[in-house]
Amino acid sequence: MTTTLLQPGQIEAAAGSIPELRLPPADVFLTRARRLEQLAEGHALADYLRFVARLARAQQDLLDAGPAGGLPPAERLDQCRAYGMPPLAPAGLPRPAGWHGTARQLARTVQPLLTPAGQAALQPLVDGADAWLDEQATRLIENDTEHVNAAVAPIIGAALQAHWTHLARQLDSAQVARPEHPNLCPVCGSHPVSSVVRIGGAENGLRYLHCALCSSEWHVVRAKCSNCDNTRGIVYHHLEGSDNGVRAESCPECRTYLKIVHQDKNPQADPVADDLASLALDLLMDETGFVRSGVNWYLIQGSP
Ligand SMILES: [Zn+2]
Ligand SMILES: [Zn+2]
Repeated sequence: MTTTLLQPGQIEAAAGSIPELRLPPADVFLTRARRLEQLAEGHALADYLRFVARLARAQQDLLDAGPAGGLPPAERLDQCRAYGMPPLAPAGLPRPAGWHGTARQLARTVQPLLTPAGQAALQPLVDGADAWLDEQATRLIENDTEHVNAAVAPIIGAALQAHWTHLARQLDSAQVARPEHPNLCPVCGSHPVSSVVRIGGAENGLRYLHCALCSSEWHVVRAKCSNCDNTRGIVYHHLEGSDNGVRAESCPECRTYLKIVHQDKNPQADPVADDLASLALDLLMDETGFVRSGVNWYLIQGSP
């Protein structure tokens, strides 16, 4: 592993006319699925990446069909904007009607891809009571990875993502306040998966954090720890022999890291797919003593 100090010239100009918030595009899950299929070629985790690709395609079908869930009332949205609160925070919203059905449908779609043991591990989700699914969802949203059922978590997460992404797509950026701290999604208050340097248009060269729940992205300048706002001593790590397409941005203050995925290296790079495919970098960071601040529900601790 090698490390590189970021030079001051690489830090973006202070925020001004740049887009601070990117609400999810209509094809967010299809883009992810295609990238996962690309990354699976010759990859040590090929089977798992293809499994998640199938799951992401099923999420795209759900998003296209417009899953249940309407925005909070206009007064509530105004109040959230005025007080700088995320308008789609799960704690302040009822679970979308039909989300249990969404989760079961996703489970049945991907079960045929799995081994008999893998299929059996998803059966509690298919047969379980709605209350059990609600409990699993709450644990996942609260990042209680110790008590979540690791086998069903990717499916529960995928169902929640489909509903929340649909909700976020109904918002207008002007309805969302800029967050006081950049560590949580301004739309739903969830943790980021990773970050991505985007290419093209007004976003060219800017770094965005990608939300684990609602697929929105928010701008955070590079060389700034998104976990604690520190800007001193930020170091970038990458795997020896890699093309620097995915790096880990580490902070000496809070001892955490967040991955940064470079579309300027790979135009198809996706903050969720490339995060999954670079698990080896997480293992190296763990050895180095840094704790991961990103959350990826497709592969939580203890997952198969
Ligand atoms: Zn969000
Ligand atoms: Zn930090």
